[in-house]
Amino acid sequence: MKLLLLLLVVGIAFWMIGARRRGPRVPPPSSPSQAPAATAPATMVACAHCGVHLPQPDALVDGDGGLYCSEAHRRAGPR
Ligand SMILES: [Zn+2]
Repeated sequence: MKLLLLLLVVGIAFWMIGARRRGPRVPPPSSPSQAPAATAPATMVACAHCGVHLPQPDALVDGDGGLYCSEAHRRAGPR
């Protein structure tokens, strides 16, 4: 019974090591679906409050079309 328990523990340990090795595998960089999105130049916009430049998809848009870098600056409004 003790041997069975030991085999079970060893088996789980090997299974976890195997799962960890398979886990963080990243897709090859030459993947056709991801390469254009990563290399495509994002339109840069300036925050209406502090003026920091950020990619347009990351900007928060106000009701009247103002672009902001963060929720705090969106609430603070244009400067
Ligand atoms: Zn800002």
